[in-house]
Amino acid sequence: MNDFYCKNILNNKVEFQKIKETENILAFYHTKPSFTFHAVVIPKKHIVTILEADDDLLNEIFKAIKEIIIENKLDQKNYRIVNNGGSFQDSKHLHFHILSGEKLIEVVK
Ligand SMILES: [Zn+2]
Repeated sequence: MNDFYCKNILNNKVEFQKIKETENILAFYHTKPSFTFHAVVIPKKHIVTILEADDDLLNEIFKAIKEIIIENKLDQKNYRIVNNGGSFQDSKHLHFHILSGEKLIEVVK
């Protein structure tokens, strides 16, 4: 697959800072952050949207999202979970943004 996550992250073509990893998912700091805290959680398998993801995978993704929020104490400040679909979705590989802190740029895709 030719999307950013398959091509660059899952193939280790760009440098990134890993937060956590399981057999099925990978969480890391966004390479071009939009917020002072900006993490991304992706499935390792190529899936385009949540509509193709089975419940076990979504459960694993949200478990990681919850852990990241707790481990970074984001609930004591602010946080936002963003998932895009259709024309809102820039990279066609399922991904969830976890945003917190101050906004650095306008658009999150
Ligand atoms: Zn992909």
